[in-house]
Amino acid sequence: MKKIMAINAGSSSLKFKVFNMPDESILIGGVFERIGFDAPEVSYKINGFRQKEKPPIHDHRDAADYLIEILLKNHIVDDLNEISAVGHRITHGGSDFSDSAVLDRTVIQKIENLCELAPLHNPAGLLGIRTFMKRLPKACAVAVFDTSFHQTLAPETYLYPVPLKLYNQYHIRKYGFHGTNHQYVASEAALLLEKPLKDLKIISCHLGNGSSICAIQGGKSVNTSMGFTPLAGLMMGTRSGTVDPSIIPFIMKKTGHTIDEMMDMFNKESGLLGISEISNDFRDVELAAKAHNEQAELAIKMFVNRVTECVGGYVALMGGVDAIVFTAGIGEHSASVRQAVVSNLAYLGAKLDFQSNEENGPYIHTPDSKVSLLVIPANEELMIARDTWRLSEGQAARLSEKQTVRV
Ligand code: AMP
Repeated sequence: MKKIMAINAGSSSLKFKVFNMPDESILIGGVFERIGFDAPEVSYKINGFRQKEKPPIHDHRDAADYLIEILLKNHIVDDLNEISAVGHRITHGGSDFSDSAVLDRTVIQKIENLCELAPLHNPAGLLGIRTFMKRLPKACAVAVFDTSFHQTLAPETYLYPVPLKLYNQYHIRKYGFHGTNHQYVASEAALLLEKPLKDLKIISCHLGNGSSICAIQGGKSVNTSMGFTPLAGLMMGTRSGTVDPSIIPFIMKKTGHTIDEMMDMFNKESGLLGISEISNDFRDVELAAKAHNEQAELAIKMFVNRVTECVGGYVALMGGVDAIVFTAGIGEHSASVRQAVVSNLAYLGAKLDFQSNEENGPYIHTPDSKVSLLVIPANEELMIARDTWRLSEGQAARLSEKQTVRV
């Protein structure tokens, strides 16, 4: 049994899980929040017991040191060398990575170059990589990219109908994100349905603060709603999703906003927050809608509308669908969103089992539904650990082969 750590570093958060591999049991899982702000917190779970602490940390480096203290004081490891590999979630792998990769100088340089395409996300991932490579220098380090799963998209899908030279010169194309979770839920759906993944057409609806939908045919991503950046596609917590690009220069001319201010508006002030003017958090918007706040009601209707439109498009694209999966915060917990989406899909013969839907699944379709409907909790850390295990074992085997040859 080997201990593998999965790290998911965001701009002000750091999620972690340590797994025993290959049996995939979780030794510890938790999250640092509000890193770099007042009163940062860490909460973690060991053997079902949740702990909450207020660590004296200022940045990700302090958080890594504090995490190592947590691992040692709780005897998750008694020696840091027991962690054989660390996997890092990296948002943007561009066209360079169609699979996860063992981190070396070249891979790190490529991730650095990709910061231009994901300025909000890749720098945090790199910070996580650098911090843990210093703290755990003997552990094999692996990058798991959110874009890799979508590298199977066909050119007619990933190209935008703009001058082709923009793709050739600047790599402007659809990359897609959330691939780690879309791939995970597709494989879990096949297990739940007891059918080979290669025979299934699946639509995975990752509905969280960031939301995207993926059409998965035979286990491969054939289309997904996010694009060149995670701003495209569905309406999200604070992101607009896809809008007519002409809106941007129009507003700039009217208001004198700079391009950075416009990007902030579309990334941070739009979506559920922009329409409801209450919150980006779906629970708050849902509560307000229940109290008949009209803007909150409108925000939820718009959210459901975009999901329905995208699912319908992907059904047409794949020529049918065997299973629709709901995952991530809203997808896993909001029975009302699932009900609203599925009722819009009645024309497909999709029928909801109301009782199982209230209980959050995993099976939420009736026996006579023509489409399987599933709720599958997101588990990006497990996918990170699986890939990290696969690649680190491969590397260990190659190293021992080299040593045998030398002998
Ligand atoms: P995620 O980005 O996957 O962590 O999902 C965050 C989103 O899930 C937020 O908008 C939350 O409000 C929403 N969410 C979490 N729990 C619930 C719940 N019980 N009901 C409705 N939405 C929820």
